[in-house]
Amino acid sequence: MYDSPLYRMALRQLDRVAERIHLDPWIHQRLQVPKRAWIVAVPTLMDDGSLSVFTGYRVQHDFSLGPSKGGVRYSPNVNLADMTAMAMSATWKCALMDLPFGGAMGGVRCDPERMSLGELERMTRRYISEIILSIGPEIDVPAPDLCTDEQTMAWMLDTYSLQKGYTRSGVVTGKPLILGGTQGGSRATGMGVIFALEETLRALRWKTQAPTLAVQGFGKVGAAAASLLYQKGFKVIAVSDVRGGIYSPRGLDIELLKKHREESGAVVNFPGAEPLTGQELLEIPCDILIPAALENQITEENADRLRCKIVIEGASSPTTQEADEILEGKGIFVIPDILANGGGVAISYFEWVQDTQHLFWTEEETTWRLRDIMSRGFHKVYQYAQREGVSMRLAAHILGISRLAEAHKLRGLYP
Ligand code: GLU
Repeated sequence: MYDSPLYRMALRQLDRVAERIHLDPWIHQRLQVPKRAWIVAVPTLMDDGSLSVFTGYRVQHDFSLGPSKGGVRYSPNVNLADMTAMAMSATWKCALMDLPFGGAMGGVRCDPERMSLGELERMTRRYISEIILSIGPEIDVPAPDLCTDEQTMAWMLDTYSLQKGYTRSGVVTGKPLILGGTQGGSRATGMGVIFALEETLRALRWKTQAPTLAVQGFGKVGAAAASLLYQKGFKVIAVSDVRGGIYSPRGLDIELLKKHREESGAVVNFPGAEPLTGQELLEIPCDILIPAALENQITEENADRLRCKIVIEGASSPTTQEADEILEGKGIFVIPDILANGGGVAISYFEWVQDTQHLFWTEEETTWRLRDIMSRGFHKVYQYAQREGVSMRLAAHILGISRLAEAHKLRGLYP
């Protein structure tokens, strides 16, 4: 039931850490599987009057530090094993970032590109009603991920609240501001990537003026990161989205590119730029590469051809384990996903705290808190990696999993 390359990679990562930190065998075994996993039928009325029965998943990997937290994605590739791997990764991420959450992940196996807004709304509402027993502000808190957004979260909040009979805004995060969302929410993951990158450049004593940048993925994370770095004077030389990529060695005007994308629906055909594919983008010479699209993009096939100095992983699991070893051998500095995109779940934590207390913060307050959490996370991982002579990825996993192991040990086994 649980088998996919992503899940196998998650298990190998856990095994590697377990060996290094002498993890108790029972905790190791427990962390290999989720605490619980829901598989639900999601019958949905389609616009043409027919009924489609989609399959929905919600995998809750761990509860030992608090309620579980993780995104919901709509994609034809959603399956139980991948959801489990992503939920495990969410657990390590929350533990690493010192958040009082465990990890979860959910999704519906469907093709959202081919569905109308009405169909998406009906599917979302039915999915939430099917898993309603298992979610809640103190139980498990969904958030946006691939092909889900603020509107999806608003439908989820509404469905949950109508069934309970009162509004509980803390049941989901990533909501519109007016429904209990947080200031700075939509740009937070991209902003977190920037804060982690700034710490990296300082730690590496980077001297280059206007470093060059390539960004794979121009969605919530990639577009926000590209835009913020462009404003800071970085030279963004290549960008791609699902429809293809563009390249200009002189640098792209990201503000104009955002307008072009709004009007045309894609980054391709941007005036003055050369076309290239999302795969070619990974291999162009640049200082910093931000994979911010999908998992499994940097593989043993292409890792050797990368010509960047730093990879900062905006997406989750963009690098396979084999590729990771190649990058390490080439001396490329990799800031791993669970640290680099940790700003997403950090801002979710801020939103959940505000909802729970009914006290809302200003944008300045959320921004400094985000900077602080990213900076502390970075230095913790960097210092450990330096001291122990291990990669940033291994350091991040060791720190996250050790914290979790301590919680499991203290709580013990019941009965
Ligand atoms: N998709 C988000 C992430 O991976 C989820 C964050 C959350 O669970 O709140 O960062």
